[in-house]
Amino acid sequence: MSELAYPYEAPASQALFDRAAAVTPGGVNSPVRAFRAVGGTPRFMVSGRGPYLTDADGREYVDLVCSWGPMILGHSHPEVIAAVQEAVARGTSFGTPGEGEVALAEEMASRIAPLEQVRLVSSGTEATMSAIRLARGFTRRTKVIKFAGCYHGHVDSLLAAAGSGVATFALPDTPGVTGAQAGDTIVLPYNDLDAVREAFRAHPGEIACVITEASPGNMGVVPPADGFNQGLKDVCADNGALYISDEVMTGFRTSRAGWFGVDGVVPDLMTFGKVMGGGFPAAAFGGRADVMAHLAPAGPVYQAGTLSGNPVATAAGLAQLRLLDDAAYAKVDAVSKEIQGLVTEALSKEGVAHRLQTASNMFSVFFTDRPVRDYEDAKTQESFRYTAFFHSLLANGVYLPPSSFESWFVSTAHDERAVQRIADALPAAARAAAEATA
Ligand code: PLP
Repeated sequence: MSELAYPYEAPASQALFDRAAAVTPGGVNSPVRAFRAVGGTPRFMVSGRGPYLTDADGREYVDLVCSWGPMILGHSHPEVIAAVQEAVARGTSFGTPGEGEVALAEEMASRIAPLEQVRLVSSGTEATMSAIRLARGFTRRTKVIKFAGCYHGHVDSLLAAAGSGVATFALPDTPGVTGAQAGDTIVLPYNDLDAVREAFRAHPGEIACVITEASPGNMGVVPPADGFNQGLKDVCADNGALYISDEVMTGFRTSRAGWFGVDGVVPDLMTFGKVMGGGFPAAAFGGRADVMAHLAPAGPVYQAGTLSGNPVATAAGLAQLRLLDDAAYAKVDAVSKEIQGLVTEALSKEGVAHRLQTASNMFSVFFTDRPVRDYEDAKTQESFRYTAFFHSLLANGVYLPPSSFESWFVSTAHDERAVQRIADALPAAARAAAEATA
């Protein structure tokens, strides 16, 4: 790394990181936060308001991570905070059913017709893990198809060739996952329907489900090719397998009905997290009523959670979803387009080869001149340019994902001032990307 790679110090964050490393592996509670892909000191944030985060050194950043998706209304939205305060004042966990969880499930189902039944959980990982168990219990089959570069949380059987942190750290596989768990997972290249058809031919009657990100954002943004999701659905239907659309990232973000609202392909099961929790640990899976009827206590497939449907989390999620009307999505889409335009303009001006890929208001930049259709394509990007780009923006008060294998996220709170700050920071970042060497 040259001296210029980290153009300013972050002493308070560094001191916290040192303390953290003494008590927590790698100093973080989720690997990508450690900045290992880009180097430097991870920023310890102390507060967030609207489109801004403030770190322990008192520096303010325009946030283009939005907590990896959930904060679609920006930070500390007054109505979400009020709903949370009101819920907290009534008690934080009862371990009983409550009206808030019913209302949240109703709100979700009202937006997505195929979501006939919903079960609430606490993380996206729990949602996909439970959906896979249910698919296996329903079909009485064992094998699962997933796609390279798609991330579905840290479920043992789904970590093979996963995106997000697994991609960031280029992990070949994960110690601790048994051969049996991995052996029931068939990993195929994304956007390759022929490979899916071939897998069904090779394993007749064995495949319980295909799980896919509704539109992947965990290898950077790589949308499904025209007809890919419908093709998956059809192959599954023809072979008695379930089609699981993982909308943890896209759900209630890419439209009021998530990616389903964009492509209209009807899944058998869907998984959710992020936006539906309003910044709290709430997630869900759901779908066909006849499949969900196999879930305990209605049916034999066991699934449970002490904090599932937590009243504070459901109040936050419900408040956030109720604020997400058509005008809110129009705002997020518009500001996303504006920022996309600025990024393209700055990089083009410096002659930096890049692909800006979008999925509705989600987007990311690959430093390559080729379209990125799958994980192999994503891995050919010049990530060293992203490192230089990232650090220049960070130095100028713009917080990007600390990895080139992640989507960028914006919110309704990204106003003119925030966009102007990004516009001001981009020319130097584009220059840094142009001048970067491997
Ligand atoms: N599925 C997708 C598509 C995700 O993007 C993520 C997290 O980024 C997950 C599942 C896992 O969710 P969580 O981190 O809440 O466990």
